[in-house]
Amino acid sequence: MKKVYLDNASTTQLRPEVVREMTKVLAEDFGNPSSTHSFGRNAKSVLELSRKSIAKILNVSAQEIVFTSCGTEANNWILRSAVRDLKVKRIVLSKIEHHAVLHTVEHLQKEFEIQVDYVSVKPNGEIDLTDLVDLLSQDIKTLVSLMHVNNEIGTVLNIEKVGRICEQNNALFHSDMVQSVGKLVIDLKTTSIDFMVASAHKFHGPKGIGFAFIKKNSGLQPLFFGGEQEKGLRPGTEAVHQIVGMAKALELSDANLATERNHIQGLKNYLIAQLEIEFPAFAINGTLDGIDTILNVLLPFPDTKTSMILFNLDMKGIAVSRGSACQSGSIKPSHVLAEMLSKEDLKKPSLRISFSHYNTKDDIDLFVAALKTI
Ligand code: PLP
Repeated sequence: MKKVYLDNASTTQLRPEVVREMTKVLAEDFGNPSSTHSFGRNAKSVLELSRKSIAKILNVSAQEIVFTSCGTEANNWILRSAVRDLKVKRIVLSKIEHHAVLHTVEHLQKEFEIQVDYVSVKPNGEIDLTDLVDLLSQDIKTLVSLMHVNNEIGTVLNIEKVGRICEQNNALFHSDMVQSVGKLVIDLKTTSIDFMVASAHKFHGPKGIGFAFIKKNSGLQPLFFGGEQEKGLRPGTEAVHQIVGMAKALELSDANLATERNHIQGLKNYLIAQLEIEFPAFAINGTLDGIDTILNVLLPFPDTKTSMILFNLDMKGIAVSRGSACQSGSIKPSHVLAEMLSKEDLKKPSLRISFSHYNTKDDIDLFVAALKTI
C-alpha cells in the first residue's frame, strides 16, 4: 500500500541536504561553541554563520535572532517576559491562536492578573482589524499577539497592516510565524514588529529547534539562567547540529520558494477541483486565498462519520488531520473551527489537508479515492 503524507502543517519531512549537513556537523563539528580552543571556535563559527543566514533571509540583523528549542518555547518566553519585565498590562489576541499562545496567555492572566482581550474573528477565519483598532484605543500598555498563518485553516494575516496599527497605538506586536516561515516571503525590515517565532520542523528542518526574532533594545529578559549562550537570553549549550540543520532548511526553502509554491498551489487547486467533482456539497473552512500549504474542508458526510474518519483514512495509508497534531487524537472539536462554524457543522467531519513540495497529484487521487470509501 502506498502511503500518502498530507499532514505537513503538523511536521515535514527533512530535506536530504539537511540530513547531510547535520550528520557532518554531528561527526566533525562537535566542539562546544563556548570553548575558546579551536574545536570550540569552529563550532561557534558554524553557529554564527547559521544565525547570519537566517537573519539575512528575514532581513534583520543577526543579533536579533535567538535560538530556542522550539516554537512553543519561544512563544512562552516572549509572552511571559513581556508581562513580567516589559510591564505589559494587557494582551490582545484571537481565540484561534495556537495553544502555545492561547494557553500561555491564560496562565499569565491568572498569575499576573493582566487584562486579556480577544479580537473578533470573521466567519471566514480572518481577523477583524476594525475590531483590533477599536480595542487598541484603550490607554493601557498592550502587546498584540496574532499569528501570521493559522495552522488549522491557513488564513494569512496582513502583518504589515497589523504592525502599522500597533505602532500607531503604541502597542507591542508579537507574531507566531511557525506556519509561514519558509513558505512565504517575509521581510521584517518593512514590518513594524517586535517579536516573532519560527520552528524548523515545519519547513523541512529538524524537530527540537526554533528561533525567535527579538527586536534590538526590546528589553526582553531570559526565562531561565545559566551560561552566557545567546547573550544570556537563552542559556544552555547550543544544539549546533540542529541549528545548522534549521539554517540549511530555511536557505533551501528560500531558494526554492517560487517553484515549490507553484507546485503546491497546483496541488491545492487540483484537490479543490476533485472535491468539487466527487463531493460538490463540500465547503472550505477559511478563505480561498489562504496559504497554499493548508486546505481545511467541511465534508458533506453525516455526523456519525466524524469520530472514525481519521482512523479509516489511516487504514488506507492516508495521513491527514482534523486540526493541530496536539489535538488530533481528541474528540473535542477544534477550537479554531468552533469560532467559525455553526453547532451543526461543527459536528460534521472537517479535515485539514496540508501539502509540501514532496506531494504529487497521485497523492491527491489516492486521498480522494479513499474519501469515496468512507
Ligand atoms: N505555533 C504554530 C502556529 C504551530 O503550528 C505550532 C506547531 O504545531 C507551534 C506553534 C508549536 O511549535 P513547536 O512544535 O516548535 O513547539
